[in-house]
Amino acid sequence: MRSLSILGATGSIGASTLDLIRRERERWRVVALTANGNVGDLADLAGEFGAELAVVADERSLPELRERLAGSGVEAAGGAQALVEAAARAADLTIAAIVGCAGLAPTMAAIEQGGVVGLANKEALVSAGDVMTAAVARHGATLLPVDSEHNAIFQCLAGNDLAQVRSITLTASGGPFRDWSAEQLAAATPAQAVRHPNWDMGAKISVDSATMMNKGLELIEAWHLFPIPLADLRILVHPQSVIHSMVEYRDGSTLAQLGPSDMRVPIAATLAWPARMDTPCAPLDLAAIGELTFRATDEQRFPATRLARAAAEAGGAAPAVLNAANEVAVAAFLAGQIGFTRIPAMVEDVLARYAPPAPASLTDVTAIDAAARRHARALMEPA
Ligand code: NDP
Repeated sequence: MRSLSILGATGSIGASTLDLIRRERERWRVVALTANGNVGDLADLAGEFGAELAVVADERSLPELRERLAGSGVEAAGGAQALVEAAARAADLTIAAIVGCAGLAPTMAAIEQGGVVGLANKEALVSAGDVMTAAVARHGATLLPVDSEHNAIFQCLAGNDLAQVRSITLTASGGPFRDWSAEQLAAATPAQAVRHPNWDMGAKISVDSATMMNKGLELIEAWHLFPIPLADLRILVHPQSVIHSMVEYRDGSTLAQLGPSDMRVPIAATLAWPARMDTPCAPLDLAAIGELTFRATDEQRFPATRLARAAAEAGGAAPAVLNAANEVAVAAFLAGQIGFTRIPAMVEDVLARYAPPAPASLTDVTAIDAAARRHARALMEPA
């Protein structure tokens, strides 16, 4: 029996993870499940899986959580510190699936207990970069990529030395707007942006996918997980989302990982690693799919990947600034405060205005994240 905690249990990744755990209940003991404020779902899940602890990040929700869990034997806690303490509880595997930089401190706490961390929360690695990878090395933790592209790369590398790799290609669906004109993009609505053609995901990553910032964040994530020269990390639009990424070796051989567009596949690879487990996902039917197509990214219409590559090249604090500005811009877009094409424009503006020194600690990263958010919000205030 292995022990498991899920940070962000009530989200899309949390639900997919628990769906797999539900099918193998006898193999797992659930330690901690966390949410932000979705008390109803969190209490139900904690009860169903017999979790030791349920935590809401938003402390105002704690009284309701306590009430719902009364008599269940599940401990209830609330607030940012409680979230970090939950992540620090010993578990064989922690799935880091909080959305945004809000997941950084708990993810770092999970890393510091030296176990295996399945990382979905890409914003945490993008923001903290070397601070996080250094913590992984220092504490002897294992970081397994849950993101489908990075999980695909991890599988294609199969333990091979990165010195044997010529290039890595991250595939991108191109999002719901991949064929839209600049004029159409300017008028895109939140409802249209969250309707992804291939994947069913949370709202924030769906918007990131529509702007292609998701691929930009993934480029930075890949660079930290698989450190090869940035120029050898490529992005390729592949609308069918069947090939999840590829590794080209120096002898000219390219390995690709294929699978259905269902996050339960990379999550299962993480849960069972280094073995394999069954999933209920429909097998890949390539004859029915018929064609796999590819095209280059269009950074005129979708500048986010250019901004992310430049932030990675600049290094230091730039990826954290890019991420924070993007989080503010996406939230503003979802709230109807700014238009779709303002998202990358705001990110570019904040990067031009705010260039702090490189962070050396989690405290530095958190301070840079907070300051970059203030810069981004200031851009939205009437002149
Ligand atoms: P969702 O929005 O569906 O879920 C987010 C989870 O984080 C929820 O449990 C939510 O709680 C919790 N949460 C939100 N804000 C906070 C906060 N401030 N403090 C603590 N917890 C918080 O997101 P996804 O599951 O789609 O994505 C999670 C992460 O995984 C993201 O980083 C995303 O980029 C990454 N990812 C997602 C994929 C997908 O298919 N969905 C694919 C690959 C990566 P509550 O329910 O209470 O709001």
